[in-house]
Amino acid sequence: MDSICINNKNKTQDQVQKDIENIIIENKHDKVKAWRESFKYLYNISTSLGYINESRLALNVPFPKFYNHSYTNVGFEININCSKPEIVAGVKTLAENYLNYEGKCVICFENIGSSKRDGLRAFEFNIGDTKYFRHFPPYPYFSNHNIIVDKNHVDQKLDHTTIRHLLELCDMLPGYKVASNSDKFGTGCTNLLHRHFQAGDHPFPVFDAVAKKEYRGQYQESSLFSIDWLHYPCCCLRVVSRDRDTVEYVINQLFSGWRETGDYPTLARDNQTFSMITQYNVDKGAYEFLLFPRHADLSRFVARPTLQCIKKEFVGIFEFSGVAILPGRLKEQLEQLESILESQSKSWPNTLAELVDGGTKYLSLTDSLEMFRDWLHSFFFTYYFNQSNANNNTIKQLLTLSVQNTFIEVLADNSPISENDSALLESWISQSNLNKLFI
Ligand SMILES: [Zn+2]
Repeated sequence: MDSICINNKNKTQDQVQKDIENIIIENKHDKVKAWRESFKYLYNISTSLGYINESRLALNVPFPKFYNHSYTNVGFEININCSKPEIVAGVKTLAENYLNYEGKCVICFENIGSSKRDGLRAFEFNIGDTKYFRHFPPYPYFSNHNIIVDKNHVDQKLDHTTIRHLLELCDMLPGYKVASNSDKFGTGCTNLLHRHFQAGDHPFPVFDAVAKKEYRGQYQESSLFSIDWLHYPCCCLRVVSRDRDTVEYVINQLFSGWRETGDYPTLARDNQTFSMITQYNVDKGAYEFLLFPRHADLSRFVARPTLQCIKKEFVGIFEFSGVAILPGRLKEQLEQLESILESQSKSWPNTLAELVDGGTKYLSLTDSLEMFRDWLHSFFFTYYFNQSNANNNTIKQLLTLSVQNTFIEVLADNSPISENDSALLESWISQSNLNKLFI
């Protein structure tokens, strides 16, 4: 291990590229091992060269998986991210890296190996005729978190090529989850200037969701597929088939039906977009492509004001997949709230009804914590006064529960198709011209 670290210190981008090509050739008979080994190598290089700072990653605060809700099988995850600065929806970030870069934007290939990104190394590869490169971010959210970037500085624009390239990546990296954020401002993508994917080797909770409605179909001779409308807080359609062309066809139809040809009286076509995540499920021998419809009307499909004390950032594809990445400020704020609530709880009334006006009379908050008042009233105090004596949770447990349920509601607020709006869902399916394939 020591010798690897020492050698890594001087690796140039060209050497890293060659080493990874060799790892892939050495493991060419085992595709899964090939990508896992190549990611391991790049992670070690990125930490040895100081691009990934593991001591900062250790500052993050993970909550336990959360199953206490109605969404069968889904274990929502919450992480308070103390390693990365908060990006507020609608406000351009001034973080140092966003102003200091080579090439045309922060993720351009010119940054690799440059003095502006000390220690950043990547692996280049092709999808068809398109050149891509992938690398770790400085603050990975989970195992093998990578950003996969078009080598050309072209707009982040979702189209049928996006879908084909995602499926190609599934074939290259079996079992790995490859995702795309949307291409409209305010719906989860922080860089709309340059096409890129997000990816991770993580069991994202949405993959465990059960179908509340299933459409089964057949495309061409023997290619069966299913479209599952998932029992999940935000709308998600999961297309599953053993045949890649079938998945591509069905997803393309749904894509067009939502944003290119479909007509939805309450949703302007220009704002229609998607977040998407996909994998080749090695155990099931099938492609799983999850499509989340999005709509970029920022007056409608964002977290409502009461929830923004917890999550004001863009809600991206990883959150839609069930992993909340919450701003680092919350670590201290939740500790302060816990301490204040503990000290004032003895003076509280007996029922929620007596706690009028957000509990102004019973709860004194510092100016910086005042933003939590409505949220406490909607979540924490509701739980506090409604719990039976036999189920006496601590103030800390109720705060945790409040944050967890807030995440679920943030997902719901961001979805243009609400949970029970089967009329809108049916309209989408029908305008995607798939009904003729259903069996
Ligand atoms: Zn760029």
